[in-house]
Amino acid sequence: MPAEAPVLRKASRQPMEVFERLESQVRSYIRAFPTVFTVARGAFLWDVRGRRYIDFFAGAGALNYGHNEPRLKEALLRYLAEDGVAHALDMGTAAKAEFLETLESLILEPRGLPYRVMFPGPTGTNAVEAALKLARKVTGRAGVVGFTHGFHGMTLGALAASGNRRKRRAAGLPLQGAVAMPYDGFLGGGVDTVAVLRRYLEDDGSGLDRPAAVLVETVQGEGGVDTGSEGWLRRLAALCREHGVLLIVDDIQVGCGRTGPFFSFEPAGLRPDMVCLSKSISGFGLPMSLLLVRPELDVWEPGEHNGTFRGNTLAFVTATAALRAYWSDGRLSREVARKAAHLERRLAGWVEAFPGLRAEVRGRGLIQGLACPEPGVAEAVCRKAFERGLVVETSGAEGRVVKILPPLVIDDADLEEGCAILERCLADSA
Ligand SMILES: *Cc1c(COP(=O)(O)O)cnc(C)c1O
Repeated sequence: MPAEAPVLRKASRQPMEVFERLESQVRSYIRAFPTVFTVARGAFLWDVRGRRYIDFFAGAGALNYGHNEPRLKEALLRYLAEDGVAHALDMGTAAKAEFLETLESLILEPRGLPYRVMFPGPTGTNAVEAALKLARKVTGRAGVVGFTHGFHGMTLGALAASGNRRKRRAAGLPLQGAVAMPYDGFLGGGVDTVAVLRRYLEDDGSGLDRPAAVLVETVQGEGGVDTGSEGWLRRLAALCREHGVLLIVDDIQVGCGRTGPFFSFEPAGLRPDMVCLSKSISGFGLPMSLLLVRPELDVWEPGEHNGTFRGNTLAFVTATAALRAYWSDGRLSREVARKAAHLERRLAGWVEAFPGLRAEVRGRGLIQGLACPEPGVAEAVCRKAFERGLVVETSGAEGRVVKILPPLVIDDADLEEGCAILERCLADSA
């Protein structure tokens, strides 16, 4: 990373004023990080004052390859310079063809996953909606099983399968078609919650109608960085198979290498019926989303599910460049594993060094969480971290988990610099 601050646009005297005056109250992350960012590169952001921040948030997982990755940027600039088609609904474009071929040859074929690729609207929640709709169409059943602390998006179908009470309440009408079952660990360490779900599915008096699908995250990015163990995920997949229930993995936040392998479910050996991808699939932070579907399940009528922005051509270009740059070999996965081991050691060290926090480490790969049960502690740590030049967010309905989500490509020294800032903030709260 260059040490010098990039050229900055002119700073206004009250840079936050326009947001307070004009932008809706619903604005959110701007409140946690109250400044105006201007420039970003790799694992760094700069603001109008010329302050540099290390990014341990990475666009909530949309920037796995960092900000303005040079190879992706170059591909995009070249495409624009050549007047490549910028918008084409879901028509055939060279950019889409190249993306599909690259996804097939670098990701799907080597993993023996012969999925069809559906492009829903450009956001994650669009992929989840499409998955749920297709699961209902395929099975003729309405219900979906989601999990406690799960998060799948803010549109009504995805929200119905999400746990957060405040976000659910904001829907303003009853959320239908989904029930929450206990995620791995929700009932305490000794309880296998797949056995609980099995009991519900197998007892005709349980009150649970046979669902169309089970919708699950392998690591709950928004819900508090709880992880489903490999055994739990395998038992869940087996249960789904036994009961003819489709298994949908929402890999929107923890796919694209976040936990190491391209898909987070690879170590558990799952072969989900459908996979939702978004956030880092474009690689550049451009809106893009897709649903991978087992070919037999691809029973859509043409145009039965539709949308204007189902082919973000610019995102196809950067997505193709990202797959070529990072997924032609196993290097990125190995790098994630190596950096994750360092991060885990740091987190474990903090648990020991600050027993007063009663903290607990969670996560997998480069999504790690430090759960601080005392109300307000995680939030205070993140606030102080920002003051010290580190962007890091809380996770969980009550915001009690410090979620560490750096770009996967972060340099060792920058990762450590961010950790050192966090350590000082934890020391302040201990
Ligand atoms: C972010 C996220 C979504 C929703 O994606 P949007 O682009 O915000 O609609 C869905 N599922 C998971 C696991 C996510 O992290």
